[in-house]
Amino acid sequence: MEVAIKVPLHRSFDYCLPASVNAEDIAVGMRVRVPFGNRQLSALVVKIKNQSELASDKIKPIIEVIDRAPILDASHIELLKFTARYYHYPLGETIFTALPKALRVGEDIDKTSINYLQLTEKGKKLPTLRAKKQQSLLSQLAKSGKSPVTEVKALGFTKATIDAIIDKELAEITIEFSSQWRNAPLTVSSKPKLNNEQAIACSSINQSNGYASFLLEGVTGSGKTEVYLQCLEEVIRKGQQALVLVPEIGLTPQTVNRFRRRFPDTPIMLWHSALTDNERLQTWRFCQKGSCAIVIGTRSAIFMPFLKLGMIIVDEEHDSSFKQQDSLRYHARDLGAYRAQQHSIPLVLGTATPALETLHRALEGKYHLLSLTQRAQTSTDNHYQLIDIKGQHLESGLSHASLAYIKRELGRQKQVMVFLNRRGFSPSLICHECGWLSNCPRCSTSATYHKSMRRLVCHHCGEQSAPPMQCPDCGSTQINPVGCGTEQLEEALSEQFPEVAISRIDRDSTRKKGSLEEELERINQGGARILIGTQMLAKGHHFADVSLVIILDVDAGLHSCDFRATEHLAQLITQVAGRAGRSGEPGTVLLQTHFPEHPLLQDLVNNGYQHFARYALSERQDTDLPPYTHLALLRAEAHDLSLVLRFLSDLVPATPVPKIQLLGPIPAPMERVAGKFRYQLHIQGEDRGALHAYIGQMVTYLSNNKLAQKVRWNLDVDPIDMM
Ligand code: ADP
Ligand code: ZN
Ligand code: ZN
Repeated sequence: MEVAIKVPLHRSFDYCLPASVNAEDIAVGMRVRVPFGNRQLSALVVKIKNQSELASDKIKPIIEVIDRAPILDASHIELLKFTARYYHYPLGETIFTALPKALRVGEDIDKTSINYLQLTEKGKKLPTLRAKKQQSLLSQLAKSGKSPVTEVKALGFTKATIDAIIDKELAEITIEFSSQWRNAPLTVSSKPKLNNEQAIACSSINQSNGYASFLLEGVTGSGKTEVYLQCLEEVIRKGQQALVLVPEIGLTPQTVNRFRRRFPDTPIMLWHSALTDNERLQTWRFCQKGSCAIVIGTRSAIFMPFLKLGMIIVDEEHDSSFKQQDSLRYHARDLGAYRAQQHSIPLVLGTATPALETLHRALEGKYHLLSLTQRAQTSTDNHYQLIDIKGQHLESGLSHASLAYIKRELGRQKQVMVFLNRRGFSPSLICHECGWLSNCPRCSTSATYHKSMRRLVCHHCGEQSAPPMQCPDCGSTQINPVGCGTEQLEEALSEQFPEVAISRIDRDSTRKKGSLEEELERINQGGARILIGTQMLAKGHHFADVSLVIILDVDAGLHSCDFRATEHLAQLITQVAGRAGRSGEPGTVLLQTHFPEHPLLQDLVNNGYQHFARYALSERQDTDLPPYTHLALLRAEAHDLSLVLRFLSDLVPATPVPKIQLLGPIPAPMERVAGKFRYQLHIQGEDRGALHAYIGQMVTYLSNNKLAQKVRWNLDVDPIDMM
């Protein structure tokens, strides 16, 4: 048999059965334990075969079979094989990355069963009981619905009380949600009548036969979620399951409750990084057995197994959190397209600001384009205004014009949002006498000054130090912050508007678990009227009273070496602008820039993202960039610069390769991080086939290359970040 093992090698391994195991007891998709070197490792059977290229005395027997039945079905293994091939990542590592941790370490698949307590039909009638405790447990269960027994006990109910109501047949223990929902009539709570565009979108999606991809392009508030909900209704009615992928930040209780409220009797489960290993395994298992109808999850939910998958929805499909940025560098949206084809089901990609890749596919006719042009509840457009800051005095990054706007809106009792994608007090300290800068000693960047902590912190390698009292070079004591971060902005605004409550949302202010939710709740209650944030604040949160949005660091996005920077800037501006003007009257969006005449800004402001995106696509075509060509990035780093350069140069062939362009070695945008030099090779292919064939050869070559063991390298197919 052939098995995949979690080792960084691009191949699978042959083993045979020991005499103690019958051939009938083993099948593709089961885990086995195998001897590997002097270790014992879990492995997954990927093929049963009777022959091997190895001599039969070289083939070792497995140690034991872990599972009684396959834990992955054939189509799932196909998905993982495709993933490994496409991203040129070892199959064993791919499979074991996609499995919940409990299964990875060889736990029994049915080990975790959480016991739930739920009312029986008789119990739901809430009969009057003499025992007070039992009565109170009944009403508790009526309120909370099915609850884990551990939670019930935590509320102070004893085992005796629980046993008593079970004996009376008022409640029962179940170990899982049943798949009953698939046959039971669906309860749908009240819902709005769709407008014309929504209705067209819904019926196109629901009437599609087999695989079809849809780009649902609609501004924030145009009713995309409502379209998802009404499409899902059909899916559940057919007894099928659905996967809803959301960005990392999208799993707020607001979103989830909306789904749960709409389908109160339908099992909806969440999948995200905060689940415990047991919860993960259980969610995974429920999904596989069909006990769960809808999974709402972040990126890695794309690897969940389903009994009968009927639809995949990717909300905010442009969001970069769908792309994993380390180890297995997959894009959940793109794997979503593969899965949808595999199962012959619709894929729905929703966003106000489609990724250029997605838009390109829609314009080519590969995806159906569905547009929602009206906001569902209000029909106002925001005013954009470009504020020219050339030669202007700035107050901690804010122009006088911006301050005047803030004052006006606060006077009208509105909320104001100021957006700056740089946390800390200032991105650097400078010596006024000699120009010394607080550079990180290990990276090619400066260390950020955090005033409240009184520390210099490098945001790239984490190195910290105390800010010097005197200049290390000239001894001067005149050491000043240069540039502005959110911490400084907060300080400046609270001096300008001492009466006004301010809330700052960035990675520093929300470090504590749950504190982001608390802060957002406070803002929604009207507790803060000036909101300062990094891009954390830009995504998906709904604030009713924001009438003014100011974006301070537009220029950084206009002049970046990353060809995707302008796309991301335009998405960000549009998303952030979507936070304003929700209460019925148009909001104002101010963009501070030194380049008010920049064609991109002009296009975005005057014609909107849709127009901008189509223009940006034509630029990509002219310059031969993705999506008009296909790109992979080979990154390498080591302490020794010459080693990195030699490693990459060795890979560049002396004569040109047909259909492939190689660029490099070139330094990464951050050439040095944590003391290591970082260089990259850009590999571009006119077509995917040629690119993949070429990378395949390269990876094979690297697996036997001595230098490859001395540098750290990774391969990124369809990179979205050139760092
Ligand atoms: P999006 O997901 O595009 O941001 P939502 O689906 O959240 O938009 O819709 C925005 C608001 O409009 C929500 O409060 C939603 O309940 C409401 N809404 C959506 N569609 C309709 C409709 N057809 N009629 C009335 N209200 C609607
Ligand atoms: Zn100095
Ligand atoms: Zn550093």
